Amino acid sequence: MPKNQFLQILTGAVFAWGACGAQAQNTVLNIYSARHYQTDEALYSNFTDATGIRVNRVDGDDAGILARLKTEGSASPADVVLLVDAARLWRAEADGQFRPLKSAVLVARIPAALRGQDEGQGSAWFGFSTRARVVVFNKQHVKRDDVDTYEELADPKNKGKVCTRSGSHPYNLSLFGAMLEHLGAQQTEAWLQGLVHNMARDPKGGDTDQIKAVASGECQVALANTYYLARLMRSGKPDDRGVMDKIDVVFPNQKSWGTHVNVAGGAIARYAKNLGAAQKFLEYLASDKAQVYFADGNNEWPAVENIRLTNPALVSMGRFNSDSISVAAIGANQNIVQHMLDRVGYK
Ligand code: FE
Repeated sequence: MPKNQFLQILTGAVFAWGACGAQAQNTVLNIYSARHYQTDEALYSNFTDATGIRVNRVDGDDAGILARLKTEGSASPADVVLLVDAARLWRAEADGQFRPLKSAVLVARIPAALRGQDEGQGSAWFGFSTRARVVVFNKQHVKRDDVDTYEELADPKNKGKVCTRSGSHPYNLSLFGAMLEHLGAQQTEAWLQGLVHNMARDPKGGDTDQIKAVASGECQVALANTYYLARLMRSGKPDDRGVMDKIDVVFPNQKSWGTHVNVAGGAIARYAKNLGAAQKFLEYLASDKAQVYFADGNNEWPAVENIRLTNPALVSMGRFNSDSISVAAIGANQNIVQHMLDRVGYK
């Protein structure tokens, strides 16, 4: 054997042995994430500090990430996928984009209603936090009684008052998918038509833009996820305080099926290469520390039960009745609802 070839083998062996000892340090976990929250940085760095596993994050929206996973197929570097909508989690599961995981830790920590299907191979995905889709109204011009159900937003009494983001945004599609389950097809399409008739302006912007439009008087009523409200409640900026002074919030449908709640969660990607690290990461997201972070850092409700809430904004929102409809039902209704939106001209 030529001397340098021997050396190569030897150094290769030493390198491999060294890599084994320092495996965690050399593992890079690839995460495709739709969590668009700056405060999440601490979530990832805490994981790296605790495990030595570095995180490489690719950000996108839910639809973009799902399209990318499909295009990349088995060549995808994604180990973990984080999405912020129940229907998208359901869709990815149905499309076989996730690799089911059997984890005693996650089964013990995450309630069954916040997990994907388990057909014996483990759950396809796990919910780690929830958020409610609530009604925001201008307290000077609108009576709470007139907007305390989702149905009323489409009532002629609210004509010219309603602002929403795009109907096709996952947050709205999931709410509308839940409405379809409760109201049936005919009433849901009429309801969507009524919403379009009641709009103060064409749908545009994100949830925070709707809240600000209600405060400015551009419109009087809007839909928003609770964490956007909590962010404004906790803000020290005078502008944000001004917004919160002008608006009020109602958790709709307390006397019927409850307020619509959406789930953000994660899964192991179908073609994940770093399975051990991916599982560690998902289990870390269910830890007390990460769960407290979801509450304190991004104003979401922890999926794990009995996490003590210290976030004053979440505490002030109190307890409420939430819709207990299944994620699968919401997911299965997405296409029908999208066609309704097209028919009634909801942009
Ligand atoms: Fe969001």
